[in-house]
Order: sequence, then structure tokens, then C-alpha cells
Amino acid sequence: MKTVFVVGAGPAGLFAAQKIAQAGHTVVVFNRDIKPGGLAEYGIYPVKDKMKFGLRKQFAKIFALPNLFYFGGVKVGTECPLKIEDLRRFNPSAMLFTVGAQGTKSLGLPGEKSKGVYSAKDFVYFYNQLPPFASQDFSTGRRIVIVGMGNVMVDIARWVMQDDPNRQTEEVIVVARRGPFEAKFDEKEIAHLEEHLDQGEFRAEIERIKDKLVAVGQDPSKIADENFPFLKKQAYTRKKPGIRFRFLCSPKEIHAGPDGRINRLTVTENILVPKGTGTAAKATDQTADLDVDTMIFAIGDAHDPKVGLPMGPEGYATRPPAEPGKGNYQVYDPATGKDLDGVYVGGWARRASDGLVGIARHDGEVAAAELLQYLNTVPDRVAAATPADIQGNLERRGLRPVNKTDLEMLDAAADREAKSRGLGFFKYSDNETMLKVIAEEKEKNHETATVSAD
Ligand SMILES: Cc1cc2nc3c(=O)[nH]c(=O)nc-3n(C[C@H](O)[C@H](O)[C@H](O)COP(=O)(O)OP(=O)(O)OC[C@H]3O[C@@H](n4cnc5c(N)ncnc54)[C@H](O)[C@@H]3O)c2cc1C
Repeated sequence: MKTVFVVGAGPAGLFAAQKIAQAGHTVVVFNRDIKPGGLAEYGIYPVKDKMKFGLRKQFAKIFALPNLFYFGGVKVGTECPLKIEDLRRFNPSAMLFTVGAQGTKSLGLPGEKSKGVYSAKDFVYFYNQLPPFASQDFSTGRRIVIVGMGNVMVDIARWVMQDDPNRQTEEVIVVARRGPFEAKFDEKEIAHLEEHLDQGEFRAEIERIKDKLVAVGQDPSKIADENFPFLKKQAYTRKKPGIRFRFLCSPKEIHAGPDGRINRLTVTENILVPKGTGTAAKATDQTADLDVDTMIFAIGDAHDPKVGLPMGPEGYATRPPAEPGKGNYQVYDPATGKDLDGVYVGGWARRASDGLVGIARHDGEVAAAELLQYLNTVPDRVAAATPADIQGNLERRGLRPVNKTDLEMLDAAADREAKSRGLGFFKYSDNETMLKVIAEEKEKNHETATVSAD
């Protein structure tokens, strides 16, 4: 039996941890957030209750494994009290990093730091109540531009148009660097926005860009069949607020008013050019201005270099695959040309923003399988720190790790809170409150135990 560390308790990390623990090894999970689940808890759209409840149930089963230990609220990184070198000193036989893609792809635009400009991930963390984002300012105005054309754009548009009663949204403008054939959202997802789209306005936008589509062999008459089936519906009156698409343009400059808040976005008009079997956007020298007071960029995420893993051109560096087209999970240092022995990545930490939960789970499980093969080739490390040693060490570093028992108490308190408020589910949205609730529950349990012992 060996000790394995899993860093990151999203779907990839938890399903991988399950495989490793089921193989008989001791698994210690470190997670930045107090609660486990990653984007399954703090990314998936709030009203997708069935999916969230289902995943929480599966995670609870994983947490019931007796040889799996959890330290929540413990971030690993070069600027944190706990660094990768510190983990090594605990002497695990292998480590799997499933920290997701926590970096932000910078737009690199003038005015990017203006108020009212947000990255989609931060905004999503905010409305899903992840600390500390839950208590930060994510105010939006009346005219919101969302850059990007995938499922995350759809989620954010839903939130500012339908599900947050405190927003004053009048119009959402989707800025897409390519055209309607390159939309990346699922049909089921875009259906949520259809009633806010105006058929006439959409057709006018297609008319504006149709020559550029035809130039790369795209047939504008097929747009309805491909990504925008709402065009085939009978004419209807658009519901307010409206959403419109501005295709073939990229953000160029963000302008701010005297209050420091974005009040205009200059975009560059693009054309499409063939690239491989698809297309690429090519900037022209034409520009246009959009009057907006909020901008959210949903263009995918990047790996966070501050975790401390070696970086390659596409994020955390993994050994080039032996066979082209096959993934690789083994972390590799391009500076030395050598593998980091026993160190693996999986899920979005291997390929940023790649796919849904099912894909992240599968990727985590494949990473676990590779790691298990590696374990067969190395002798046991007798000096591996025990979970109790690790707990003490983390506390000496000033950290306040939350373990599995603490989580159960937190969940029980949240359930009671939900009942008293008449809600289906309740989530605490700041770390201090969560730690206080856990301490209070411990105190209560201690008193009950003392009374029953008397
Ligand atoms: C807005 C949005 C909506 C989505 N909606 C859906 C949907 O409806 N259906 C669906 O199937 N999929 C959806 N997905 C995709 C799904 O959430 C991902 O596929 C999946 O969560 C990726 O899993 P992961 O474990 O690789 O990473 P993550 O879920 O990001 O988990 C990473 C974990 O690592 C921890 N961590 C990060 N940094 C550190 C560190 N330095 N030290 C320690 N721990 C760290 C985090 O706390 C987190 O728990 C959505 C994604 C987004 C962004």
C-alpha cells in the first residue's frame, strides 16, 4: 500500500482519487476550496439542480472510502504556505494534479482593467457563490457585451437576462470573432436564449456578413439547420431583454468614462480565411464602436503557472505522447527534458476548458490508471507522512484544513439552514462563516457527547 496525493477535488480529481483508493492505496486530497466539486459545484449553472445533486451524491460516495483523506481550504502554489516542494517532503509515492484551469486568458487590450470588465470564470464563480468571488463586486449595467460563443456565454446571458432579478439588463451583445457556423454552444443550451432573440435583427446581421461567409464556401441558407434553429420557428415577439449577435469582430479597445467604468468597446471587423478543414478569423483595418457598460469575456481559461508545475506552450507541460494523437498524463520539465517522476496531471489541468464533467471524469480516471501502473514499478515509501502528521503540519503553517468529518458537519448545518429558509439547497458563501459553522457544530457535538457521558 502506497500514499498518493491528489491536488484538486473537482470531478477529475475525485473520480481519480476513487480509482486509486479502490486499488488499496492511501489517498490524500488537497483542495483550494473548502467544499469539494470544483466547477461541478461552482461552475455548472445554478438551476441545473438534478445534475448538481447527482454529482454531490457521487462525490459523497467517494468521500465514504475509509482510505481517502481530505484537506479542504488548502491551496498549493508558489505563493502559498504550502508549495509542491512541501508536498514532496511528506514523501508520497506519487502525486496527481487535477487543479483545473484557474488562470485567465488575458485579452491584452487597452482599458482591460476598467471597472465592469470581468472574466467569465470569475463571474460564474460569483453567481455560484464561491468564496472570495461571492463577496466581490460583479455589478452589471444595462448593455452587456459577452465575448465568446460557447456554452459559458449562454450560461452568463441566462443569468443576466433571466435568473438574477437584481440585474437591469436591457441588451446582451454577443461578440464573436468568427461566424454563425463556428458557434460552439450546444443546441439544448442556446434554446434557453431563443425567446430573447429577434429573427429580423438576426437576419439583418447575416445579411451584413453574408459575402464573407460565401467567400469561404459557407452557405448562409444553412445557418438555421446548423446552430440557430430558432430561425425556423414561426415569427414571434422577442422577450425583453434582448440578445443579439455581432459576428466577425474582435475586441480592440475598451474605453472608460470618468468613473473608470467601461462605456464603449471598439471592435475590429474580421474576415474568414480557410484554415485546415475549417476557418480562422483575420482582422481587417475596419473598426466599429459598441455602446456598452459591462464586458464579460468567455474565451476559455488557462492553466495557473503559480501552482508551480513546469509550463509548456499549452499549459502544464506533459511528456510528448509516444503515439501522435494520444494524450499524456506524465508531467515533464521542458527545461531539463526529464519527467517529474511520479507526478501526473488530469482533467482540465491537462487540457484547459476541455469538455463537460463526463470528459473530465474520464480524463481523471485515465490519469489514475497511468499513475497506478507507475506505482507497480516503485517500492513502498515507508516514511510517507500520515494524514495526522499532515494535518499537524498544515496547522503549524497557519492553515485551517477542513476534513471529511468537518464537511459532514458543514453540510448538516447547511441542510438545516435550507429547511429554515424554505430552500431546496443552501450554500455558505464565505470561508470565515464556513469555518465558524464547523467550529460551532463541533462545540455542539462535544456538549452532546459530554451530556450523554454524564
Ligand atoms: C461556466 C461553466 C459551466 C459548466 N457547465 C457544465 C454543465 O452544465 N455540464 C457539464 O457536464 N459540465 C459543465 N461544465 C464543465 C465542467 O465543470 C468541467 O468539465 C469539470 O468541472 C472539470 O473538472 P476538473 O476536475 O478538471 O476541474 P475543476 O472542476 O475546475 O476542479 C479543480 C479543483 O481544483 C482545486 N484547485 C484549483 N487550484 C488549486 C490549487 N492551487 N491547489 C489546490 N487545489 C486547487 C479547485 O478548488 C477545484 O476544486 C461547465 C464549466 C464551466 C466553466
